[in-house]
Amino acid sequence: MSLIDDARDLLATGPLCDSCLGRPVADRSFGLTNAERGRALRTTLALAEDEPYEEPSEPCWVCEGLCERFDELADRALDALGDTELYTYQVGSRVPPLLGENDRLLRVDAGFDPEAGEELGTELNREIGRRIGRRLGADVDFGRPDVQFLVDLEADTVDVQRNSISIYGRYRKLERGIPQTEWEKFDESVEELVAPPFLSAFRGTEGVFHGAGREDVDALMLGSGRPFVLEIKQPRRRNADLSELRAAIEEGTDGTVEVESLAFATHGAIERVKEHDGSKTYRATVDFVEAVDGDAFDDALDRLDGATIEQRTPNRVDHRRADLVRERTVLAIDGSLEDEYTATVEIHGEGGLYIKELVSGDEGRTEPSLAGLLGADATVATLDVIDVEGVDEPFFTPEFRLDRDGAPVSAADAERAAVSDDTPNGAQPGDDILDGA
Ligand SMILES: [Zn+2]
Repeated sequence: MSLIDDARDLLATGPLCDSCLGRPVADRSFGLTNAERGRALRTTLALAEDEPYEEPSEPCWVCEGLCERFDELADRALDALGDTELYTYQVGSRVPPLLGENDRLLRVDAGFDPEAGEELGTELNREIGRRIGRRLGADVDFGRPDVQFLVDLEADTVDVQRNSISIYGRYRKLERGIPQTEWEKFDESVEELVAPPFLSAFRGTEGVFHGAGREDVDALMLGSGRPFVLEIKQPRRRNADLSELRAAIEEGTDGTVEVESLAFATHGAIERVKEHDGSKTYRATVDFVEAVDGDAFDDALDRLDGATIEQRTPNRVDHRRADLVRERTVLAIDGSLEDEYTATVEIHGEGGLYIKELVSGDEGRTEPSLAGLLGADATVATLDVIDVEGVDEPFFTPEFRLDRDGAPVSAADAERAAVSDDTPNGAQPGDDILDGA
């Protein structure tokens, strides 16, 4: 069948707008809109039959005028966006089932494959999206865009969904008694101390803290800090100076919490910090009940260095947990006696090694242990984390970094730009030749 036959068969189904006429042949040629394809078919048919060319005069039976509304729907999307900023966007739409059915019937009635060309919804998304992109100067992202426009033609609404921002960083906790996330018993948490400057800078509704594990409430987090991702929900701003935010946090927390290595991250970085295997280095101050000899202490550390430790589920752990024996390696251990009754020990352990039990022996449930090797009761007085590192590779590799060029845009920016284009003072040489009407 020729294109002329196609055009004749399609137009025989009833009055069609150019878009609906062109959509069943959307897979032919590139760089054309469906409306341009439709108009070309109509023109070609008029020439072939040597009939007068007629613009469609009756309403389109397939889309019922929807394809005339791309500009209006794009305007409504930009109104709904308001001053929300974005770098990337995507348009999704809900087409009334009746129109979807018309779109299918058009093909069936004209003898086409029912899935020929493009669906009405796809054209709608693309045509509205093109208009939004042109007005904003923003890019479409079919993965996880900053903003998702939802055009619901059945409910006649246009909604804006703002996807969250992820900020990677590492935190240090320099005061005991602060949990990582909100906990009734405590006045403040790392999350509550870190999130506010980000929430106001990005104008988000909520900050969710995702840590690479967590230290005990009474443990300090020192050294290079612990990796985390702060997720800012429904932000209206997309960019901020992270070094200023870092300074604001340190000022606001009186130095109890510090952050560093801040960077914009992909949404996938959340899973990454939560799931990536990490190993921790701890600093423990240890109290002995009996006096400990320096040589015996050094000898005990030598025997623990690189040792595989068998640990039954600790007594202090929730009794509903299964009682089982786990094997974990002491990757490195070093320490010194402060006096006969006190020592400082640094332990680099495989993920999941229970440090308090490695020191105390947990009534024989951990073997070997510092207390067991010394034959002296030993307990951990303070336990701080001084390093958290990824095992196979670092937590934050380049694939989780989100680098963006320039400033984000908003509908308000586009509006201002359009107004200044209309101002005669803003005219550039040569402008009068263009768009004279
Ligand atoms: Zn139509």
